[in-house]
Amino acid sequence: MMSRRRQIYEGKAKILYEGPEPGTLIQYFKDDATAFNGEKKATINGKGVINNRISEYVFTRLNHIGIPTHFIRRLNMREQLIRQVEIIPIEVVVRNVAAGSISKRLGIPEGEPLPHTLIEYYYWANNEEMQDISSMAIRVNDFMSGMFAAINIRLIDFKLEFGRIWDGDYSRVILADEISPDGCRLWDMTTGEKLDKDRFRRDLGGEEEAYQEVARRLGLLTNEEGGPSEVADLSKHRKLRGK
Ligand code: 5GP
Repeated sequence: MMSRRRQIYEGKAKILYEGPEPGTLIQYFKDDATAFNGEKKATINGKGVINNRISEYVFTRLNHIGIPTHFIRRLNMREQLIRQVEIIPIEVVVRNVAAGSISKRLGIPEGEPLPHTLIEYYYWANNEEMQDISSMAIRVNDFMSGMFAAINIRLIDFKLEFGRIWDGDYSRVILADEISPDGCRLWDMTTGEKLDKDRFRRDLGGEEEAYQEVARRLGLLTNEEGGPSEVADLSKHRKLRGK
């Protein structure tokens, strides 16, 4: 069954297949992780399953506050049905706290709150689309900052991708891709522990536990999958690194 589907695109962490109806696609989440433009590669066991669930959860909640997204429904452990869009060639990074490339570029220490939220664009889109994109990015940030704060996670920054859907001659911008610890920096509010892909990028270890911990706090795992008895013990990885 899987083999008969036509593959539309394969990226680093996801595969897109043609969907059951015109205008739809199936988004498959892989366990593969890459960093530094693909120079660093690994498999994080179970990452695809967890990112599928986290992204489903976030997009569903964003839909509820009126942010249009490509998400239709989750199909199974690793796949979701999405609307087909023309991806707008723009990457939107929203930053609340200095970390990663902005710390390097501007010499701001990691963890220093920015005086106000910064939105960075790497883009090619028209003015009207940019208006829609920036207003949606701000709403997504306000909503997600609160959503993560409620589970004791600080939303440091994240990346968004948008798509264009056509209705005759008119086009509309909707949120696409995924929202998961692969494209967000998520720090525990109390300990500052990183609960995102930086664990992989920076060889901190415990990436599986970190992704699970985010899913667990969002209430997405059943007890067998990582209930209270299995609360991520990231201190183990700290000790292994001799800290
Ligand atoms: P930075 O520019 O500091 O490397 O990244 C800022 C934020 O955007 C981080 O949350 C990072 O995870 C996300 N981000 C930026 N570019 C990419 C990318 O190509 N892939 C992924 N997964 N995340 C990205």
